[in-house]
Amino acid sequence: MPYYIGDVIASEKKLIARTPEAFEKSGIRERLNTEAEEVDENKGEVRLRTGERIPYDILVFATGASVTMPPVPGLDLPGVHVLKTLPDALSIKEAIGSGKVKKAAVIGAGFIAMEMAEAFRTAGVEASLIQQAKLPVRRWDPDYATLVKEELVKHGVHCHPETSPKAVEKGVSSPLRVVTDRGEIDTDLLLVATGVRPETRLAETIGLAVGETRALRVNFSQETSREGVYAVGDCAEVFHRVSQSWTSLPLGDIANKQGRVAGSNIGGTPLLFPGVVGAQSFKVFDLQVAATGLDEGEAKQSGFTPVVEKVTGTPTARSMSRGERIHLKLIADRSTGRFLGAQAVGSRGTVSRINFLSAALWSGLKIDEIAYMDLAYSPPFGGAWDPVHIACHALMRQF
Ligand SMILES: Cc1cc2nc3c(=O)[nH]c(=O)nc-3n(C[C@H](O)[C@H](O)[C@H](O)COP(=O)(O)OP(=O)(O)OC[C@H]3O[C@@H](n4cnc5c(N)ncnc54)[C@H](O)[C@@H]3O)c2cc1C
Repeated sequence: MPYYIGDVIASEKKLIARTPEAFEKSGIRERLNTEAEEVDENKGEVRLRTGERIPYDILVFATGASVTMPPVPGLDLPGVHVLKTLPDALSIKEAIGSGKVKKAAVIGAGFIAMEMAEAFRTAGVEASLIQQAKLPVRRWDPDYATLVKEELVKHGVHCHPETSPKAVEKGVSSPLRVVTDRGEIDTDLLLVATGVRPETRLAETIGLAVGETRALRVNFSQETSREGVYAVGDCAEVFHRVSQSWTSLPLGDIANKQGRVAGSNIGGTPLLFPGVVGAQSFKVFDLQVAATGLDEGEAKQSGFTPVVEKVTGTPTARSMSRGERIHLKLIADRSTGRFLGAQAVGSRGTVSRINFLSAALWSGLKIDEIAYMDLAYSPPFGGAWDPVHIACHALMRQF
């Protein structure tokens, strides 16, 4: 959606994975713009807001996640947006298209805030980021978050770190004014991007178990604490293969795979969801940003003793370098040498390194096994010793 708002994707039609007509053709009846309000387990029925009752033998919760709003008065004013659904994206795009939005402000500093800051700038709109922390994208190492911040500033984004919004009011020179503990920010449009929480309200009415993550507990077949009731996607927990614990990771690729696993089990072909290693990526202007596995804090929490190494390499052989850089951080366990996680920020080639490191995590490899791993080498795509090899060797010297 941010790429649609920033005009990189020209038509909203390209964002629709499957139309209602396509669903009908596959024998799936859609009921759009209605809400499932009640589940009657005794009768095996779901009651919709329209009053219609739908009988079921098997029930699947795929209720996603809901946007969390900070406790700031004025977030109901016209011009304040969230970005969760396609209609949200359409309304932001329409506001920009009206020509009345010259300035946009974003509350938040996660990946959606980053993508939207870029989208606003691409659409020719002045952009401000308001965030409580000192640096954006807290999942990443402060050195890497600093690079992200520098990239934002380089592209004209006004960053307001360590700033707490206190209220949103009608403005005088602009339609909106964000009152913060560090002054006022006038804006034509305000986007609130402060995160999501698993949407489990309906599931909880029938007593389904919720984990510490506040997402629905499931097993590897995607079945909830109740036999015959499944949960998939952002509303459900997922097993983290590195920490060996159940977690909540609201990401689209996970939701897709869990949906297929549940469908297969319901259809009679048993299938287990093998879990995740926490791979994630986003782009902000010319920077690729990615991570996989555990960070140091998570590693400690999971009982590991993390050893860390950071290196800076190039996405090509040095002889072909155009000054591009890949900054790569690896984390391993001191006692076993097991690879635990990686973070990277940089030019082209950054996400592909994290993807192959995700495969290494998936396989439970140790750092000394990755250090000599056979990777495709040719000068336009890297050196004979890839930044990943170099980071592994540097890390091994610490053992
Ligand atoms: C701007 C943006 C960018 C993103 N980019 C990425 C990305 O690059 N990579 C990535 O992996 N993930 C990304 N995500 C996350 C990804 O979109 C979600 O993880 C994914 O959509 C989750 O799918 P889901 O089916 O679990 O939930 P959803 O897609 O949220 O669908 C849940 C649906 O259930 C409906 N619902 C809830 N309760 C009820 C009820 N009681 N009755 C009827 N309907 C109900 C909701 O209205 C919604 O339509 C992004 C998300 C956003 C908002």
